Amino acid sequence: MRIDLHTHSSYSDGTGSPAQVITEAAAAGLDVVALTDHDTVSGWPEAQSAADAAGITLVRGMEMSASWGGRSIHLLAYLYDPDHPELVRELETVRSSRDLRIARMVELLGADYPQLTAEFVAEHIPDGATVGRPHVADALVSAGIVAERSAAFDSILRPGSPYYVRHYSPDASYAVKLIKEAGGVCVFAHPGAEKRGRIVPDAVISRLIEAGLDGLEVDHRDHTPAQRDRLRAIAQDADLIITGSSDYHGEGKPNRLGENLTAPHMLERIVAAGCLEVVGW
Ligand code: AMP
Ligand code: FE
Ligand code: FE
Ligand code: ZN
Repeated sequence: MRIDLHTHSSYSDGTGSPAQVITEAAAAGLDVVALTDHDTVSGWPEAQSAADAAGITLVRGMEMSASWGGRSIHLLAYLYDPDHPELVRELETVRSSRDLRIARMVELLGADYPQLTAEFVAEHIPDGATVGRPHVADALVSAGIVAERSAAFDSILRPGSPYYVRHYSPDASYAVKLIKEAGGVCVFAHPGAEKRGRIVPDAVISRLIEAGLDGLEVDHRDHTPAQRDRLRAIAQDADLIITGSSDYHGEGKPNRLGENLTAPHMLERIVAAGCLEVVGW
């Protein structure tokens, strides 16, 4: 059984619609796929219809922005109540902070790259999407300023660039607690991805486990073999769920569907612990 528990659609920074992601997942020979857009569940209904039609199993998820000290952390939340008031409010706050932050970044960029007006960048943000730097990267590509998304991330959009602006995200322990209160299963996304910025030490993972963390995404292309070994050992020690996934972003990243997979018995644990049903499981 081929299970991929981390993908993005055009409701965040993936380039395909939820239906497209599902169709591609079926074509890639996946049996189970999770849609995990950043800070939103807007893609769930379309993804579920497409999954039902394609005969593939959908796990409804979301990738929540959080922070520890100054470091950005991503938490995968699976099968949680999307109407939990406190979590809904928190995600709305994150998304509006993302809007303000991108507006400010575009203002700063516009001073040096006059083509980059707010209107021009807005053309690269799909309706209803959680806004992120990848959308600005797409605008930079279509203005001919950089060749591709990753080139923008290596230069103009990297933290430390004069155009970089942070956005609000909740403290990671609080975010884990909210996801658990909402009946969800919480898996730390790419906790060993050193090239994204400073990763958190083992002690922070321990604190998140105390807050209710259920699992670690161990197999991810941004992890070196040494990071995978480290994370697998932590997970086994604490009897956490271990996942592997592609973090598919369509054409926005080289990540291919199914390039890392999750074991069926690990998915069993997620389904058993989550408060939502998985159709067809
Ligand atoms: P943001 O959350 O707006 O700060 O942007 C971070 C997002 O950009 C992450 O969710 C990644 O999916 C995406 N990202 C990070 N690095 C790259 C890269 N080199 N190429 C394409 N997308 C990237
Ligand atoms: Fe992303
Ligand atoms: Fe992420
Ligand atoms: Zn992701």
